[in-house]
Amino acid sequence: MKLFTTSTLALACLLAPSTPSLVGQSTPTPTIVIHHPATISHEPGPATHFAGTVTIDMLTVPEEANLTRTETITFAPGGHTNWHSHPHGQILVVTSGSGVIQQRGGPVQHIKQGDVIWTPPNVQHWHGATPGGPMVHISIYQEPAGEVTKWLEPVPDAQYSAASK
Ligand code: MN
Repeated sequence: MKLFTTSTLALACLLAPSTPSLVGQSTPTPTIVIHHPATISHEPGPATHFAGTVTIDMLTVPEEANLTRTETITFAPGGHTNWHSHPHGQILVVTSGSGVIQQRGGPVQHIKQGDVIWTPPNVQHWHGATPGGPMVHISIYQEPAGEVTKWLEPVPDAQYSAASK
């Protein structure tokens, strides 16, 4: 997966001996950045992309040196995404509760705390809590400029109810 490749490269760079700078040339020194909880955005999931009560904590946003978007997404009972796809795929790590994920044309799959899910690029799917309980997952995906999640139609209520049993 691309994420792991990037991480491996980053680690290799960290471990590599530093090159002495040329005289008169100044390069900024890369530094560790820590985002404390009070500075992390905590927003409702927009009704255009989600059904029910969903909250998104934006842990990292894509930037020059790191194209990874990382979010903690909290689904109240009944909360779930619309159908959508990610141009570079998506990793989900379920950190609390249990829920469901479904690929277009595929079976509903139940997921629970500790599960790590890889959805390949451009595969249409939806995910969320069941009506009976909440789920929290971390979402990790690569988002180069302009290559954003493609949001599609809501999951019909009857389909969601049937899927969540
Ligand atoms: Mn997704």
